[in-house]
Amino acid sequence: MTNQLEFVRVKNFIDGEWVAKFGAEYVPLFNPSTGEQIGEVPLSSKETSQAAVNSAHKAYDSWRRLPTSKRVNYLFRLRSAMEEHAEELAFSIAIDQAKHISEARGEVSRVLEIIETACGIPTLIQGETLEGVGSNITARVIRQPLGVFGGIAPFNFPALVFGWFVPFAIGAGNTFLFKPSPESPFFMQKMGDILNEIGLPRGVVNIVNGDHAVPEGWYDHPKIAGVCLVGSTPTAKKVAERCGKAGKRSMLLGGAKNYLVAMEDAQMDVFIENYLNSCYGSAGQRCLAGSIVAAVPAIHDRLVERIVEASKKVTVGDAMDPGVYMGPVISAQAKKRVEHYIEIGINEGANLVLDGRNPRVPEKNKNGYFVGPTVFTDVTPDMTIAKEEIFGPVVSVMKIRDIDVALELIRNQEHGNGACLFTQNLYYTEKFISEANVGMVGINVGICAPHPYVPFGGIKDSLLGTNKVQGKGGIDFFTQDKIATIRFSSPSGAFLDRGEGQKEGGKVAEPQAVRSCVGR
Ligand code: NAD
Repeated sequence: MTNQLEFVRVKNFIDGEWVAKFGAEYVPLFNPSTGEQIGEVPLSSKETSQAAVNSAHKAYDSWRRLPTSKRVNYLFRLRSAMEEHAEELAFSIAIDQAKHISEARGEVSRVLEIIETACGIPTLIQGETLEGVGSNITARVIRQPLGVFGGIAPFNFPALVFGWFVPFAIGAGNTFLFKPSPESPFFMQKMGDILNEIGLPRGVVNIVNGDHAVPEGWYDHPKIAGVCLVGSTPTAKKVAERCGKAGKRSMLLGGAKNYLVAMEDAQMDVFIENYLNSCYGSAGQRCLAGSIVAAVPAIHDRLVERIVEASKKVTVGDAMDPGVYMGPVISAQAKKRVEHYIEIGINEGANLVLDGRNPRVPEKNKNGYFVGPTVFTDVTPDMTIAKEEIFGPVVSVMKIRDIDVALELIRNQEHGNGACLFTQNLYYTEKFISEANVGMVGINVGICAPHPYVPFGGIKDSLLGTNKVQGKGGIDFFTQDKIATIRFSSPSGAFLDRGEGQKEGGKVAEPQAVRSCVGR
């Protein structure tokens, strides 16, 4: 792939080679900004998936035996190569899912930061040792890789999710199968070339394109150690069930419904700037997108005025156009879904103060999948638009009595990804951080995405499985502890003198007859 618009027949990357044919059915891929077909994606079969499992399994033994420093050296190379190709990578993200080119660049640079963090693997996966747990007995905890992992990506963050999974998994000594979303496969097409360019041994990372049939062959496969996924909650629940039944570990990030709470002392300009990026960035298709604004009465009316005024100025159009603020949603089906939610909002009695249906776009984009900024006021917690993930640029504004009501609304939600508070007040801040029942909290920021050194993930229906990505848990997921109990003595049988057998009245105390489950 180059960064010229050309028709792309998506291939699988198996055992270090691009595989064009595997008897797969192909589905068309459209540019959401124009509606034009830009490629086709194979819906790979179970057999293809199996070939990738075999390749990853074959690669595992020598990969895990490679000194950690050598594996990390590949991560350094990966980072350099991705930086060198950053513009092509950003283009690949911007073209198939129509993420605005400036956001696509931001996504690539975040992945570089994640890989920098993963380069710390030699420190991050160190174990522990305690000498003298018994006479001449040392206890040692070592952390080892598990084998082959499968990873499933959503359409909206093809690069970020690669960053969350692959560098930590392979850095720790595992091998990997990556299934991109069939709606945004281009980034991984570029990545396959980069993996070859850095000389990554064959089979350490395989890319298999397709839909749910690809992981179907993973869950019960004895060679697969675990599965990770980022996607909607219903998908995460299905994968959780399959992994649970098969006794496989899983790390599954689900959907979201995020609040932006504005208190009476919120700085209006700060709020509006953050609101625009949070609610309309990626056309509202982020797991940390603001979806509900909850404002106290003292600020509510003025805030609605400013929101509507700023939203009207949001330019909608081609994701490759630097002069545009917001691109399209991912597909014709997604557009229909978002418009359906707008109709539901109207029918359930919310007040549509800004209607984003059929926004004005340039002539060349007339067949694109656009929905403009949409704002409802007078939304109540029982309404569908206040409860379900819309995943589009539709915002519900609620008037709330105080911070306690905001916290109760957040607590009652099924999702628990993120929530942001806008205030200058320390009491509100600390109360919100402590009591908001979500996994990620932001204060005076609209997108509370944690940096690569700390965990990223929600709670409740936004996180299935146990671990969040990144941070300690995200690394733990790709390693398992082994505990060694080591007894030693000198060739003459002498033990180290640890002061055992204390003298009592000049005599050495007789040891009590105790039979322990470990040697003493
Ligand atoms: P999706 O659930 O439709 O698909 C996600 C991935 O799962 C795709 O690769 C898809 O092919 C695959 N898939 C679909 N059905 C499957 C099944 N039965 N078994 C196994 N795999 C299956 O989600 P999407 O529309 O691609 O992405 C948007 C969703 O992802 C939103 O709900 C968003 O909130 C969520 N998301 C969450 C986070 C987070 O950090 N929590 C980050 C990004 C996106």
